[in-house]
Amino acid sequence: MPVIAYVFAFLLGLCVGSFLNVCIYRLPRAMSLLRPGSHCPTCNQPVAWHDNIPVLSWLRLRGLCRHCGVRISARYMLVELLTGAVFVWVLAGHAAASDAVPLGRLPALGAYTALASALIVASFVDIERMVIPDEVSVAGMYVGPVLCAIWPGLIEHDELITGWILRWTGLAGRPHLGGLVASIVGMLVGSGIVYAAGRLGRVLFRKEAMGFGDVKLMGMVGAFIGWQGAMLAFFVACVVGAVVGVVLLIRRRNTHIPFGPYLAAGSLLVMLHQDILFRLFWNLPTLISPWR
Ligand SMILES: [Zn+2]
Repeated sequence: MPVIAYVFAFLLGLCVGSFLNVCIYRLPRAMSLLRPGSHCPTCNQPVAWHDNIPVLSWLRLRGLCRHCGVRISARYMLVELLTGAVFVWVLAGHAAASDAVPLGRLPALGAYTALASALIVASFVDIERMVIPDEVSVAGMYVGPVLCAIWPGLIEHDELITGWILRWTGLAGRPHLGGLVASIVGMLVGSGIVYAAGRLGRVLFRKEAMGFGDVKLMGMVGAFIGWQGAMLAFFVACVVGAVVGVVLLIRRRNTHIPFGPYLAAGSLLVMLHQDILFRLFWNLPTLISPWR
């Protein structure tokens, strides 16, 4: 893959990240994404195009509004850089084996960057407002099955559940239907596992650890990466959450972080490194066993 492709992916990610910032601010406030154009939330002055260039404008204005001087959160730059990095990461994951992105991989590239963008918006809204907007998760639950029906290759075929349903219903050998079924199964398992864990947590710890927003978020993820990916993503999210929780405990920080960002991180990792994580997961008992 030529370097220029990665540069392009990064710049595209910066621009998409700039739009994701708009979504993060406006979706939970029920504002239109298109109108009005970018403006300062304090003085309401519109932001000129040359003050709206990803990363550079924030640095040049030192994070202050040009008109009223109010501080503009570093989150804006962070989201742009993160989106740029994730786009490069997605491209690298797909280009590992070949010099150019084969045309057949383009739908997967598009679907994965869309899912990654949705996960970034969901995470930052969840951190700031403790909700995950339906405009992201429920929309993803509709988009996922449609994309998988058009491009059945998005989710790797599994014999265990999807294959069984297709044989049982006499629909085996019809790839587009197979993609649709795989996506719906992924959606049900993804949301089901979070729902079950939430109920279990309520019984065991008498605490609300996972909300219905998380259930819908993993429904969306499952619809894109299938039931095995969704289960693995949930497991990875719990591991990452436990590690961060221990670190916060040691540093005596009493910051509450919602579970959405962990689910998003687990999903991103699985989306891009499914093979390695599955191998690690299956070998985990032997890796941590004291009787090796
Ligand atoms: Zn201002």
